[in-house]
Amino acid sequence: MLPVPAVLDDAHAPSLPLTALDTVWFQLTGTLCNIACRHCFITCGPLETRVPMMDAADVTRFLDEAVALGVRDYYFTGGEPMLHPEFWSLVGATLARGPLTVLTNGILIDGDAAGRARRAFDDARYSFDLRVSLDGMSAAENDPVRGKGTFVTITAGIAELARVGLSPAVTVVEHRQGLAAEAARSEFLGFARSLGLTHPRVKFLPLLRIGREERRTHGYDGEDLAALSGLTLSPEVVEALVCSSSRLVTAHGVMTCPILLDAPSAMMGRTLAETLRPIKLQWAACKTCVVEGLSCRT
Ligand code: SF4
Ligand code: SF4
Repeated sequence: MLPVPAVLDDAHAPSLPLTALDTVWFQLTGTLCNIACRHCFITCGPLETRVPMMDAADVTRFLDEAVALGVRDYYFTGGEPMLHPEFWSLVGATLARGPLTVLTNGILIDGDAAGRARRAFDDARYSFDLRVSLDGMSAAENDPVRGKGTFVTITAGIAELARVGLSPAVTVVEHRQGLAAEAARSEFLGFARSLGLTHPRVKFLPLLRIGREERRTHGYDGEDLAALSGLTLSPEVVEALVCSSSRLVTAHGVMTCPILLDAPSAMMGRTLAETLRPIKLQWAACKTCVVEGLSCRT
């Protein structure tokens, strides 16, 4: 195995323009989560407070800046965004400005939360979407990665959303080989339908070999960085990359994307306006986006 340089140097890292700032992601609860998945690429968990929760006032300030810059849509992520004490008012504040997608592990979606989600959906001028993470069609497949008992809780949360007529996208991390094979995809769609989703959507995500995943299996190596080195990105790849049209807002500042939360070199500025510039794809995780086609968008 080749020695692993931390990042590619500027001369070898592919350049990526910011085609437009269309999307703003909010790292709403920092690294705080109510579970601690073994494949979590940003090592979130109940005791993980190294990236703090965002103040509601800061979220609103960034929303106003985003509107002024012509941003078209928003994502809430974490950690678990529903742990934010002002989650629902921030959902309302965001939906007053544009479409919103919330990425959640579904654990906190009970009848009450599903009802609130439905009201937010009904009251909003813009579209409101939810993405729920589930890593298998059985407890035996999901729980070793997401934690004991999570299959039952997550599927109950999805069923609550279905009961109020919402149809979240289900995201599945390819934590074992074959999970994203064609047969498994159609089986997963059928499974989502069995939970009550009338218009099931299932999104498979390749593994990111950083954070806790690095310890569960293995991290990137020098060959991964070498695969990126000197690449010229086609217009199709540029368009597909989340970082060509979005930025991630955290309590510490604005970063390239939701993947590189722990990479100090991915911090770009204190305001969105400061980040309206091209970036260099110098991190090993970029290989998963560029070569394996990972896109964080729904
Ligand atoms: S993968 Fe998602 S649900 Fe799991 S610990 Fe990380 S942030 Fe929480
Ligand atoms: S990890 Fe992916 S989304 Fe983040 S900067 Fe690299 S290519 Fe872009």
